[in-house]
Amino acid sequence: MSCNSRNSSGESGGCNSGMISNAEAGGFKSRGFPVKCKCGLDVVMFTSSTAKNPGRPFFRCKSCEDDHLFKWVEDCMYEEVIDALPKISSIDNEIINAKAEVAVEIANLKELMIELKEDGMWSKREIQRWKKMTKVCLVCLCFSVIAIVISMFYKKKTQKFVLGY
Ligand SMILES: [Zn+2]
Repeated sequence: MSCNSRNSSGESGGCNSGMISNAEAGGFKSRGFPVKCKCGLDVVMFTSSTAKNPGRPFFRCKSCEDDHLFKWVEDCMYEEVIDALPKISSIDNEIINAKAEVAVEIANLKELMIELKEDGMWSKREIQRWKKMTKVCLVCLCFSVIAIVISMFYKKKTQKFVLGY
């Protein structure tokens, strides 16, 4: 396929036909990379071979008519970048908000961890206190048993003494 390129000064010349044939669905796009021409035909990318713009890529309507779509690729790229900037800044804001939310979550988790640690320490102290109390009780119980045994032993001895005089 061959087609004549046309630039801003109206210069014409031969060019190599390029790739991209936008067969995908979608209508005419006035900004960014064109998908279709106003006439509904696909857009094809060519490379200029004029003396003024050698090797400069451009999009053109398949019909190659003068009053149909013609757009330099770098102009399309510029428009895409300009149009993407607000989206990038909104993504930036979303990232900043997400970061703030994550920071709050981390702070909450840290607080929770401190609380759990304190709870754990308290439980440990309680367990130690109960262990000590149990030991004291056991000792008391042992003494009581010994005291009862001794008292019973003495009682028997005095009874024998009383009975056997
Ligand atoms: Zn067209």
